Parts: sequence; structure tokens; C-alpha cells
Amino acid sequence: TPAGRPAPFAIPTDSLIGDAWVPSASGKRIKIADPATGAVLTSVADASVDEAMGAVDAAEAAAAAWAATAPRKRANILIACFHAMMAEQEWLAHLISLENGKALTDARGEVAYAAEFFRWYAEEAVRVNGELSVSPTGGNRILVQYQPIGIALLITPWNFPAAMATRKIAPALAAGCTVILKPAEETPLTALAVAEIMRRAGVPAGVVNVVNASDPGPVCSAILHDPRVRKLSFTGSTEVGRILLREAADQVISSSMELGGNAPFLVFDDADLDAAIEGAMVAKMRNAGEACTAANRFYVQRGIHDAFVERLSAAMGALTVGPGTEPGTQCGAMINRASIQKIERLVADAVSRGAEVKLGGQTLDRPGWFYPPSVIANVQPGSEILSTEVFGPVAAVIPFDEADEAVALANATEYGLAAYVYSEDLRRALQIAERIECGMVAVNRGLVSDAAAPFGGVKQSGLGREGSHHGLIEYCEAKYIAVSW
Ligand code: ADP
Repeated sequence: TPAGRPAPFAIPTDSLIGDAWVPSASGKRIKIADPATGAVLTSVADASVDEAMGAVDAAEAAAAAWAATAPRKRANILIACFHAMMAEQEWLAHLISLENGKALTDARGEVAYAAEFFRWYAEEAVRVNGELSVSPTGGNRILVQYQPIGIALLITPWNFPAAMATRKIAPALAAGCTVILKPAEETPLTALAVAEIMRRAGVPAGVVNVVNASDPGPVCSAILHDPRVRKLSFTGSTEVGRILLREAADQVISSSMELGGNAPFLVFDDADLDAAIEGAMVAKMRNAGEACTAANRFYVQRGIHDAFVERLSAAMGALTVGPGTEPGTQCGAMINRASIQKIERLVADAVSRGAEVKLGGQTLDRPGWFYPPSVIANVQPGSEILSTEVFGPVAAVIPFDEADEAVALANATEYGLAAYVYSEDLRRALQIAERIECGMVAVNRGLVSDAAAPFGGVKQSGLGREGSHHGLIEYCEAKYIAVSW
């Protein structure tokens, strides 16, 4: 049980279908492990394809009434969700920390970030404005109205189990869509708790449904082949994104994809070093590096390089590593064994090609999945860590000489999600930002995520945007009505 005020309800572990929490008929359950110990925490219902189709039925039954609900009323329900979620911040943070492993401080931040999507989209729900224009011939009027796209399947990852769910649910509901959420099998409890909070805050039955599946492929495929489903929003790996785009192709389902990243972090000689270190700590160590926006490659100009490596190693080395739920922990556990193995492989590859380990570099010998904050410098071209997201607390540092070289290095990846630029010359920083092939650039800061901003990637980092007004339009179709005048 979390510290402070306990949860006002037992955390659900079944599927939410319409107005009921239903166990799976087969009795099959998915075990949920605590990454800090490896111990099994509990289990959740493993929904069958039939049960998932029941969720589509429930979403369909609620769809017309929800789309017809006055925008102000939908907004009021969403703002009630915001307040309800913030009221439960402490135990919800504890729950996130338990099933995901992240430090409580990160988890509290996630709850606030997640709840913010409810507030932002409560404010957007009443501002879905259309357009009226005169056709160039003058003979008719062009009327454009934004209508809800229809039932949406939302598939979320384990790294932000609350925020990735609300970032999709809130705009969908604001637009007038009903949804089926399929959380990651590693971290379903947070999503189930958020769904219960939403139910209690007044979200009508069937508007939000949640199913978990140990084998998500067949369940998601069945949903994406149901003609009533019109939208897919996915956050996860590029590899699974490609599979889902193929699945969505059969019914030509509108797809929003937030996929992998490989964020470069550029530091120029004229950067404010204190600020760059502070930003690097956020960009690298938020969520212990388990973020698609996490800085993966630090390109540092020669004149400031050695000082940067020394200062970053000191700052990262000062972090307290431990179970996320323990007060004082700053870097929690990685999600699972596979994650640790991937980090080990990428570090070993970089070292074998000549990189120097300045800090950490070895899995901790203790129960659970712990990798320490690590800095590897002089990472050589061709090292796999430069092309693959490490998704852990490892900073790879590479020196550069010229701005053009830094931009070329930053762009030498099939990904294009986030990038970071540090320079006190704002004109240069903005010019560099324009040239980096990515969806988001942070200038002299270590954080891009904001409910009010369009989050998303270019190249193989994804399609579409979440957050801001852009995120709402992803759940709408433009209806054009030609009117004779
Ligand atoms: P990660 O590598 O971060 O675990 P994944 O892309 O594997 O990310 O998983 C993200 C989400 O995609 C999870 O909810 C997972 O269950 C789901 N998923 C994985 N494979 C499939 C699939 N074949 N079809 C539908 N969803 C899938």
C-alpha cells in the first residue's frame, strides 16, 4: 500500500468492458512483476479475442451518445478527471513506481504530466472550430466541420504507463470518440487505475474500455479488422509500429504513431556549461533513460568536451540508485532482463570499438534489474549505441569540431523524434534546430514534453502529433460541405 492516503478503491485487475470489470472467461491471467525485486506483484485478466470484441461492442454502443454529448459537458467530465487524478497523485505515483520501477519523484512528475492532458483537452473540447470560405469562383461556399473519427484503438508502452494512456484518451474523448485501450503487458495496473478514476469522475460506460493481452498481436489485429474501428494510436517501438501500420492498412484505418527515437544532444563551445549539465541530466536521466525522447548521443564541441564529460560523470555518479519506491531514489530499476541485456550489449559493443568508460558500465549485482548511471566517452563511429536507442541510464559522448559536422552526425539516423541544442548564441541554436531532421528540438533545455505542444517525430519516429490542438485533430475527420450561393 502506498504511503500517505491509500487508494479509495481496490485497484482493478480485470478488463473494463462497458460498465463492468470482467475477468477473462478462460481464467488466464498475466503476471505483473516488480522490476526492483523480480517478485510477482499480482496478475491481470488476459483478454481473449472475443473479449476484445466485446470491448468494441461496448465502444460502439456508447459512440453515438458520446459524440452527441455537448462539448461543454465532455469538457466538464475531462476536467473532473484532471482533478480526480491529481487528488490521487501520491498512491498513483507509488503504483507506477511499483510496476515500472521508476523513482517516485519521476512517477509523481508523470502523474502531473498525465493529468495535464485531461485539463488541456477539457479546454480544447469546446474549441473544435470549423472553417467557412468563399470558393475561388465565388459561386459557392466551402463549409468545413470537424467530426469525431470514430472508435479508436489506443496501444501504449510501459515507460509512461499513465501519461501515454491519457495523452491518447483525453483528445479522443474531447473529439467525441470512444476508445479501447490496450496497455503494455508489463504495466497494466496504472492504466486500470486511471480507467477506474475516470469512471468515478463521470465518464459514461463504454466510452473508455481497457483490455490486456499476453499476446497482443491477435487481439489488436482482430480489433483493427472490425469495420466499426476507425482510428489507431500507437506508442511503442518502430518495429511494432510497422506491424500495426500493415494491420491498419486492410481497413485503411487512420494511424498515429509515436515510435522510437535516437535523440542527439548538441553542446557548442559557447554553451552555458552549468545549464548544459542540468539539461543533460533531465534529458538523459528522466525516467532513468527509459524515454523515447531521452538523449542517446551527446555530441560536444571540442573546446568544452573534456569539461562536459567530467561534469556529467560527476553529476550522474552522484545519483542514488535503488528501488523506485524508496524515498531518496533518483534512478530506479530498468523494466526487465531484456532491457538490461540490451544495455549491456550496446555498452560492450562501444567499448570493443574503443570507447572509454568514464562512469558505471556494469549491471549492478543485486536483485532486480539495475543498471547504474554510466558515461562512455570517445564513442567511435559505427558503434551500435549511435544507431540504437539504449533506453537506459547510459550517456554516449562524442566530440565534434564544426557545426556542419554536428548537424550531419545528428541527422545520421533513421529516427527523428527529439533533439537538444545548447548554445548561448540563440540565432545559431535556432538555425541548427531548423536543420535537424526531427519533430521536436529543445533549445537550452532538457525537456520537450508538454501537453500544450505537438509531440511527435519525423522519419521512422512516427506519424502524426499528440498534445496541443494537433493532437485533437488526429481524432477528427474534416467534413466538407459545398454550398451553392
Ligand atoms: P517496447 O519495446 O517499448 O516494449 P513495444 O513496441 O514492444 O515496445 O510495445 C508497445 C506496445 O505494443 C505494448 O502495449 C505491446 O503490448 C504492444 N504490442 C507489441 N506487439 C504487438 C503486436 N504485434 N500487435 C499489437 N500490439 C503489440
